Amino acid sequence: MLEVHEAQQRILAEVSPLDARECPLDASLGHVLAEDVVSDLGLPLWDNSAMDGYAVRSADVANATREHPIRLRVVEHIGAGDTPKKAIPAGSAARIFTGAPVPAGADAIVMQEDTDQGAETVSVFDGVKPGENIRRAGEDIRRGETVLPAGAVVAPTHLSLLATLGRARVRVVRPPRVAVLATGEELVAVDQPLSPGKLREGNSHLLAAFVRQLGAEPVRLGIARDDRADLRAKLSEGLKYDALITSGGVSVGEHDLVKSVLEELGCAVKFWKVSVKPGKPFVFSRSKSCLVFGLPGNPVSTMVTFLLFVRPALLKMAGRRDLDLPRRSAVATTEFRNHGGRRHFMRGVLTEKAGRLEVASAGRQESHVLGSMVRANCLVDVAPDTVVKVGTEVDVRLFA
Ligand code: AMP
Ligand code: MG
Repeated sequence: MLEVHEAQQRILAEVSPLDARECPLDASLGHVLAEDVVSDLGLPLWDNSAMDGYAVRSADVANATREHPIRLRVVEHIGAGDTPKKAIPAGSAARIFTGAPVPAGADAIVMQEDTDQGAETVSVFDGVKPGENIRRAGEDIRRGETVLPAGAVVAPTHLSLLATLGRARVRVVRPPRVAVLATGEELVAVDQPLSPGKLREGNSHLLAAFVRQLGAEPVRLGIARDDRADLRAKLSEGLKYDALITSGGVSVGEHDLVKSVLEELGCAVKFWKVSVKPGKPFVFSRSKSCLVFGLPGNPVSTMVTFLLFVRPALLKMAGRRDLDLPRRSAVATTEFRNHGGRRHFMRGVLTEKAGRLEVASAGRQESHVLGSMVRANCLVDVAPDTVVKVGTEVDVRLFA
């Protein structure tokens, strides 16, 4: 049986980012950048005023005080959008407003609150240091600087910068289209009545939601019965997508047909079974163009194998660079016991108390238990044959 990290590596080795496409700036929100964005401009574009006030030669006003103001001749009026026409000679100033270009000769801005705000001449009440209240060209962003890396998810703040740089169109990675199929003779859909032996299925909703949260596009294909013909029809539909995620039917029972029907459909089974709890019967397979993830059907097994094995693959496909669940070290406030030979990812509740991260068990840890699944916000990574004692540190992976 493969260890968790071996299974993850084998999967990622099969995944390449999808093709890139251009989209209008605003439509790129939430998409993944397909290439580094390199600035072809320096920002600010030119030296400009940080204040409404007067552009001066700082040496002229070095000794200015309220008691002994210094009078300067105002030679020009420069508003935002204007370009200075004159250099500022000694003993002179230009009226200037926030964002306007600083005229030649001036080396500082006196804010208008420190003047009498005169029009022809101005009295300055306070000195300024060279460079004061001037925003220098290129001090924010240098020409040639990588301002956003490939793999970044475009955020509202990024749109502001991209617009400033004149990027009306942005190259992003096409989001993966992901088919989700529940399998099991016993399952009925959420809007169907229960009858003896039947239960409503939740896994396809969980999986489609996880897929959507990653920025990919889920398509739920419904429920396949444990029947070769039905599985063949629905799995072959699923193989038309970038990825297919199934739940159920991958264990060793005589009704577990997913793996063998995938093989009938020409899919290569890359591996089956991982040394992990829950989720051991996980199967990874692929056709030429579709990655197939066969998840075990118990809801917690479905969730854990999605987070460990499917999530990083979909992120890589989507062009993301950071593929791992956020990891933390936390102090256990309940004991976590793993008496088995497989690494156990237990449901935990991570909280912060007085700057310290603490994790408690979310409750019962069997793989059918939904109550602890909905309480949990993290998976607690407990090594085989290990008891994590109260008060000791343990690794957790955050998923909510
Ligand atoms: P299987 O992996 O097919 O052996 O299923 C294991 C357990 O998970 C069984 O108790 C199934 O009824 C249950 N199960 C399978 N698929 C789903 C689903 N989509 N939603 C909820 N429970 C499921
Ligand atoms: Mg089943």
